[in-house]
Amino acid sequence: MQDKTIFQRIIDKEIPATILFEDDKVLAFKDVNPVAPCHFLVIPKFPIVNLTEAKPEDEPILGHLLYVASQVAKVQGLSESGYRVVINNGKDANQTVFHLHLHVLGGRDLTWPPG
Ligand code: 5GP
Repeated sequence: MQDKTIFQRIIDKEIPATILFEDDKVLAFKDVNPVAPCHFLVIPKFPIVNLTEAKPEDEPILGHLLYVASQVAKVQGLSESGYRVVINNGKDANQTVFHLHLHVLGGRDLTWPPG
């Protein structure tokens, strides 16, 4: 059996995280190594490796992840100033945790193009 990812261990409450939102389908929590004043992650509560591996039946959860990202961003006070939602997908994007996650970044001027 494959080892659990670090995010599956957070879902299973085996390791702590600062949880901002949780329902039966998704979890939002602060990134342990923030790269912006506000940096949180939104993940499905079941493993999807990344967008490449998403199945047709995952379409509703993909939409829910984005909606929850917007709602948590609002609570975090980012709606007025703006924020960026990022998915690092695969090698060239430097994906390091192979459990799909949205990064939500805000609280500073985010440059474009990204690195
Ligand atoms: P990726 O590079 O895969 O897009 O992003 C993985 C993210 O997960 C990184 O921003 C990293 O800081 C975050 N991360 C890795 N391990 C942990 C952890 O144990 N707890 C939390 N809260 N975030 C983590």
